Amino acid sequence: MIEYENLHKLNKPFFEEYSNAFNEVMESGWYILGKKVEEFEKSFAAFCSTNYCLGVANGLDALYLSLKAFDFEPGSEVIVPSNTYIATILSIVQNGHRPVLVEPDISTFNIDPSLIEAAITKKTKAIMVVHLYGKVCDMDPIIAIAKKHDLKIIEDCAQSHGAKYRNRLSGSFGDYAAHSFYPTKNLGAMGDAGAVTTADAELAQKIKTLRNYGSGKKYYNEVIGVNSRLDELQAALLLVKLKYIDKINERKRKLAGIYLEGLKQDFIKPVVHPDHYDVYHIFNIRHPKRDALKKYLEDNQIKTEIHYPVAPVKQAAMKGILDHFETPIAEEIHATELSLPVSYFHTEAEIRQVVETMNKF
Ligand SMILES: *Cc1c(COP(=O)(O)O)cnc(C)c1O
Repeated sequence: MIEYENLHKLNKPFFEEYSNAFNEVMESGWYILGKKVEEFEKSFAAFCSTNYCLGVANGLDALYLSLKAFDFEPGSEVIVPSNTYIATILSIVQNGHRPVLVEPDISTFNIDPSLIEAAITKKTKAIMVVHLYGKVCDMDPIIAIAKKHDLKIIEDCAQSHGAKYRNRLSGSFGDYAAHSFYPTKNLGAMGDAGAVTTADAELAQKIKTLRNYGSGKKYYNEVIGVNSRLDELQAALLLVKLKYIDKINERKRKLAGIYLEGLKQDFIKPVVHPDHYDVYHIFNIRHPKRDALKKYLEDNQIKTEIHYPVAPVKQAAMKGILDHFETPIAEEIHATELSLPVSYFHTEAEIRQVVETMNKF
């Protein structure tokens, strides 16, 4: 059986260092917003080649707080790709704003910059870009559009730790960038965890206040905040894994290379472009007979996933919010996408076996 993911196997190489980190936090007696969070924030900001990082409880909160920090008037419009994971859209709705869907480029799965300007109105305040599957969006034209129309950019970097575009790192493009360290992500914790990065000192201070009850100074509350702090223990574990993230990404790229080279042309493979250093959080192909292919692989002891089976416009929760948008490209992706095993623990022989089996489909 070739599993799609196995978090025990994925984390096993780090168990000894994790145990030491766990003991260190336990013995320190300081469990919330302590030295490990501070150290992780410094290290992760440097890793993203930006100035500030603020740890928060999870990726959704990172998105929610980034948007909240701007304090746009209720009912403002925020542009977001039509094929994103639901969290990006939820963060807009939770802030009382209106998500405006823009279709992706079907070859990159990322928001199509040429469609953004048509979606801008007087109420548009921000663009949320999502570096889906581990590929950074085509940022140069997006930054130019944002400048021209005075829009903020928030990056959703949940799937793109360490990915690059024209030699710039994921998490260094936007006014804010939101990161998730959910256990399956390339830089995954052992529980929920997230962070916001920014180059701007004032914007950093806003998140620092918002995440901790709206309090900059203990027991003095300046704004209505939330409780969304990165756990000291998760920060200690993340500091361990951060040392290995480049190795993890290189490994996933190596496995992706086996698919890219070996899979026959019937499968629509992810594009590879010299402007992009992709980290393959997900390695996916598209195929018109996706469901039959998934079943065939399962019959051959190979597990796969679909990211994601239902397009945001078709989600029951989005009735009345998104259902006036027509998103045929997103729906085509959702109907044909299949994610193949590409975890840190998979062997090259396993990936070659997937390739061989798929090529007989
Ligand atoms: C995982 C993910 C999130 C949410 O992260 P959580 O930590 O689970 O809240 C947001 N956006 C994208 C694209 C994701 O993949």
